[in-house]
Amino acid sequence: MVLEVNSLPALERALQTLEESFSQMPAFEQETDLDGIASVLQDVALRMQDNYPYAHPLYAGQMLKPPHPVARLAYMLAMWVNPNNHALDGGRASSEMEKEAVAAIAAMYGWKDRHLGHLTSGGTMANLEALWIAGNLHAGKKVLASSQAHYTHSRISAVLKLPFESVACDQQGRLDITDLRTKLERGDVGTVVATLGTTGAGAVDPLPEILSLREEFEFRIHVDAAYGGYFLLADNLGSDSRASFDCIDRVDSIVVDPHKHGLQPYGCGCILFRDPAVGRIYDHDSPYTYFSSDELHLGEISLECSRAGASAVALWATQRLLPMTRDGEFAQGLSKCRAAALELHRRLRADDDQLTVFEPELDIVIWAPGGRRGSEISRRSSTVFDKAAEKNLHLALVKLPADLLRSYWPDVGFDEETVTCLRSCLMKPEHEGWLDEIWRILKDIS
Ligand SMILES: *Cc1c(COP(=O)(O)O)cnc(C)c1O
Repeated sequence: MVLEVNSLPALERALQTLEESFSQMPAFEQETDLDGIASVLQDVALRMQDNYPYAHPLYAGQMLKPPHPVARLAYMLAMWVNPNNHALDGGRASSEMEKEAVAAIAAMYGWKDRHLGHLTSGGTMANLEALWIAGNLHAGKKVLASSQAHYTHSRISAVLKLPFESVACDQQGRLDITDLRTKLERGDVGTVVATLGTTGAGAVDPLPEILSLREEFEFRIHVDAAYGGYFLLADNLGSDSRASFDCIDRVDSIVVDPHKHGLQPYGCGCILFRDPAVGRIYDHDSPYTYFSSDELHLGEISLECSRAGASAVALWATQRLLPMTRDGEFAQGLSKCRAAALELHRRLRADDDQLTVFEPELDIVIWAPGGRRGSEISRRSSTVFDKAAEKNLHLALVKLPADLLRSYWPDVGFDEETVTCLRSCLMKPEHEGWLDEIWRILKDIS
């Protein structure tokens, strides 16, 4: 079996417990067209067969990680209520659970006593809120992010009509501090985005150096850790990435996506602010949604209105089963992902047929089959990608600038500005145990 179904009976038992909360209500039977539903579900299952086997360890391509069974079941359980975490009227319990789950994430980043934060539909919306607040506090000033930062930052800046400029990267794909200083010296920068875990290569920007620059120049620091944020808990980071995660509590805002490495179904991002006073910027006056209590409604500190309470329930359940502690099973899972990436990189580097770049900082590995010219390497990467898929090993491709690759591959003639390389996100703890099989297939086709 690739699909985990052993945990399904727990859902039926939990549904019975949930039903007990309605025991005071007059009986109300809903008619269900059982045959119709069953038949349509079969059609859906047939349509859904057209997918890569994301849950299997031989899927080692894009940034996709299966949700934990407890997250899946808690989400489904919540579907029978379908709470809306916009306001307490729409989801009392799930709003409380959201506050608890978000406070636990804030505490992981060292913000135990004070923070402002909530869940969002994903990293894009969470980053939008961070830059929107930043733009309000530094009106008209620039947003800077590295050339390897997620494309969302330049696009969001355009949406918010904030000037945006990209900062060069060093040979490891991290934000280049010298170039950052040059840009800060112009005096028109309001916000610097530090990416802790770039989406392409998993590079961690040098946060300690960015924080030192803040002592000289005045700007906000927003950390985009949508993908990398949970690696703070891993016990096997390199010293540079460790140093960046260790000072994350000194920044102004953080984005992390529980739906990336936090074992959640899609629809779960998180934005956190260190200073709760930024909540005043969200201030609005809604005539119809808030009657039921004087407590803070999550809709008062979120740009999105209706939001899936089920996402909060799933996250809460996952954190309860797998607390975010450095010595826990959740943290071990992340350490295993990084260990798998290091081991794959080690084997590739020792292999004369392969070209490698920097050592993985988190769990993304980038390499390419050997070749004399950039265009030839690009072609061969695409061939390996196809041949691996035929053998059920699913990888991904990434285009990297020739400038970044030059120092690693001195014998290659770069005839194009970018080179297509192979990329593998080893995001499942099981990847470690499957590495021999992944390697066997790679050797088989090279
Ligand atoms: C994935 C990602 C985003 C975008 O988040 P979504 O959840 O896909 O909207 C932003 N920044 C980084 C670094 C990411 O990895």
